[in-house]
Amino acid sequence: MERMIDLRSDTVTRPTPGMLEAMMSAPVGDDVFFEDPTINQIQEKIAALLGKEQALFAPSGTQSNLMGMMAHCQRGDEYIVGNLAHTYKYEGGGAAVLGSVQPQPIDYLPDATFDLQKLESLIKPIDDHFARTRLICYENTYQGLTAHPSHYLEARKIADRYGLSMHLDGARLFNAAVKLRLSPREIVEPFDSVSVCLSKGLGAPVGSLLVGSKELIEKAHRWRKVLGGGMRQAGILAAAGIYALDHQVERLAQDHEHARILATELKLMGKWEVEYAENQTNMVFINLKEEEVKPLREKMLKNGILIYPGKRLRLVTHLDISMNDLQKVIESFRKV
Ligand SMILES: *Cc1c(COP(=O)(O)O)cnc(C)c1O
Repeated sequence: MERMIDLRSDTVTRPTPGMLEAMMSAPVGDDVFFEDPTINQIQEKIAALLGKEQALFAPSGTQSNLMGMMAHCQRGDEYIVGNLAHTYKYEGGGAAVLGSVQPQPIDYLPDATFDLQKLESLIKPIDDHFARTRLICYENTYQGLTAHPSHYLEARKIADRYGLSMHLDGARLFNAAVKLRLSPREIVEPFDSVSVCLSKGLGAPVGSLLVGSKELIEKAHRWRKVLGGGMRQAGILAAAGIYALDHQVERLAQDHEHARILATELKLMGKWEVEYAENQTNMVFINLKEEEVKPLREKMLKNGILIYPGKRLRLVTHLDISMNDLQKVIESFRKV
């Protein structure tokens, strides 16, 4: 089959030759016994990068977020979370289903922050009628948008006043760091825990890490086992992640530049409402009419371009989209 230009997500990337070589030569052991040197290496590496005590490798971001939330919260506790956040909407309700932890949604503002007065008003008083508010959960990037860490410092003050913890779903934290020209550590400083994905823009095939204090990671380690995430010679996967962290972080700037070019060209065509903000990283959204959805998808498919069927169409740039591919995408949109 001819290679498709796949704009559906940055999860579709294939391992690069250098990455495959790193995976082939990775020293491994049984990680359930803490004996996989490559897993230990990536955990230490990411903990140091994010300025936290420890990290724990997980097969997916969903599991990494979940074991984090379960480590922070007890049965009957509650976490405050963005209304369209991944941890609320796209993880099958896992915190409620498996952790007995209730979500309290809050609207995201267009700049990927929360209204802090609203946030404070949602914290429930200590009263037997209410779930106990325990955790505030942010996402960065959120729909590709970065929020500046100054916002999190303000939220942290509220969290501290009420004795709450803060978790960051940083599936695309490195996109945010590259975009903001900050170290990831500066962004996550106000958070107690962070989940990062290796399998999104960073281009590894599998893997996420939960990062936090030694005490939190010990709790999460137990939950990972309960959730079925204890893996054995998983260093093969960690090696891909180490390679990605060493070689494929700075290049995220290219994906951001490609998204900017794509958004600019789409706007110039004047056919659709294009969503692209200054704090956008590697995503562009265009709003289609219902009747445009199917024909657009089919026409693009004929040109070797894959897009999701959806009225709010998300176009994602990544490692496997070159400048040539982008030109082809722009031409195809122009022709429809
Ligand atoms: C992809 C993603 C996750 C984790 O997803 P998995 O597919 O389980 O690895 C979590 N949060 C956000 C914002 C994501 O985009």
